[in-house]
Amino acid sequence: MNPDDGIHELLKYEHHGTDVFVFGELQGLHKDHCLCYLCTKFHPCEPDNCPIAQATYEHNVKYHITTPMWECPEFEQASVSL
Ligand code: SF4
Repeated sequence: MNPDDGIHELLKYEHHGTDVFVFGELQGLHKDHCLCYLCTKFHPCEPDNCPIAQATYEHNVKYHITTPMWECPEFEQASVSL
Protein backbone atom coordinates (compact mmCIF):
# COMPACT_ATOMS: atom_id res chain seq x y z
CA MET A 1 0.00 0.00 0.00
CA ASN A 2 1.29 3.38 -0.91
CA PRO A 3 -0.43 6.18 0.99
CA ASP A 4 0.65 8.58 -1.75
CA ASP A 5 -1.03 6.78 -4.64
CA GLY A 6 -4.30 8.63 -4.20
CA ILE A 7 -6.28 5.49 -3.39
CA HIS A 8 -5.57 4.99 0.30
CA GLU A 9 -6.69 7.94 2.35
CA LEU A 10 -4.92 8.21 5.69
CA LEU A 11 -7.13 9.20 8.60
CA LYS A 12 -6.25 10.34 12.08
CA TYR A 13 -8.82 9.71 14.79
CA GLU A 14 -9.09 9.20 18.53
CA HIS A 15 -9.16 5.54 19.58
CA HIS A 16 -9.50 4.80 23.32
CA GLY A 17 -8.30 8.31 24.12
CA THR A 18 -5.24 8.31 21.83
CA ASP A 19 -4.87 9.79 18.34
CA VAL A 20 -4.01 7.04 15.85
CA PHE A 21 -3.52 6.85 12.07
CA VAL A 22 -5.28 4.35 9.81
CA PHE A 23 -6.04 3.83 6.14
CA GLY A 24 -9.58 5.19 5.93
CA GLU A 25 -11.04 2.24 4.05
CA LEU A 26 -9.75 -0.13 6.74
CA GLN A 27 -10.92 1.75 9.83
CA GLY A 28 -12.94 -0.52 12.10
CA LEU A 29 -12.52 -3.61 9.92
CA HIS A 30 -9.84 -5.39 11.97
CA LYS A 31 -12.33 -7.89 13.41
CA ASP A 32 -13.41 -8.88 9.90
CA HIS A 33 -9.81 -9.88 9.14
CA CYS A 34 -8.81 -11.46 12.44
CA LEU A 35 -8.64 -15.26 12.71
CA CYS A 36 -9.16 -15.13 16.47
CA TYR A 37 -12.88 -14.38 16.11
CA LEU A 38 -13.29 -17.74 14.36
CA CYS A 39 -11.06 -19.72 16.72
CA THR A 40 -12.08 -21.99 19.61
CA LYS A 41 -9.08 -20.79 21.64
CA PHE A 42 -10.16 -17.14 21.66
CA HIS A 43 -11.67 -16.19 25.05
CA PRO A 44 -11.11 -12.44 25.38
CA CYS A 45 -11.15 -11.05 28.92
CA GLU A 46 -11.08 -14.59 30.35
CA PRO A 47 -8.21 -16.27 32.25
CA ASP A 48 -8.14 -19.11 29.72
CA ASN A 49 -7.69 -16.85 26.71
CA CYS A 50 -5.23 -18.02 24.07
CA PRO A 51 -1.75 -16.88 25.19
CA ILE A 52 -0.88 -15.64 21.70
CA ALA A 53 -4.07 -13.59 21.45
CA GLN A 54 -3.61 -12.29 24.99
CA ALA A 55 0.00 -11.24 24.38
CA THR A 56 -1.03 -9.54 21.14
CA TYR A 57 -3.84 -7.72 22.92
CA GLU A 58 -1.50 -6.52 25.70
CA HIS A 59 1.02 -5.36 23.09
CA ASN A 60 -1.74 -3.45 21.29
CA VAL A 61 -2.88 -1.79 24.51
CA LYS A 62 0.70 -0.88 25.46
CA TYR A 63 1.43 0.83 22.12
CA HIS A 64 -2.11 1.96 21.15
CA ILE A 65 -2.04 -0.13 17.98
CA THR A 66 -4.53 -2.52 16.34
CA THR A 67 -3.30 -5.91 15.15
CA PRO A 68 -5.64 -8.35 13.43
CA MET A 69 -4.36 -11.96 13.46
CA TRP A 70 -3.73 -12.46 9.74
CA GLU A 71 -1.93 -15.79 10.08
CA CYS A 72 -1.61 -18.23 12.97
CA PRO A 73 -0.21 -21.76 13.23
CA GLU A 74 -2.33 -22.51 16.32
CA PHE A 75 -5.70 -21.60 14.78
CA GLU A 76 -8.52 -24.03 15.55
CA GLN A 77 -11.74 -23.34 13.69
CA ALA A 78 -14.88 -22.88 15.75
CA SER A 79 -18.14 -24.34 14.50
CA VAL A 80 -19.22 -21.39 12.41
CA SER A 81 -19.47 -21.21 8.65
CA LEU A 82 -16.97 -19.03 6.79
S1 SF4 B 1 -4.70 -19.72 18.31
FE1 SF4 B 1 -4.24 -18.04 16.90
S2 SF4 B 1 -6.17 -17.60 15.91
FE2 SF4 B 1 -6.63 -18.79 17.73
S3 SF4 B 1 -7.06 -17.30 19.33
FE3 SF4 B 1 -4.88 -17.82 19.45
S4 SF4 B 1 -3.85 -16.28 18.21
FE4 SF4 B 1 -6.01 -16.23 17.67
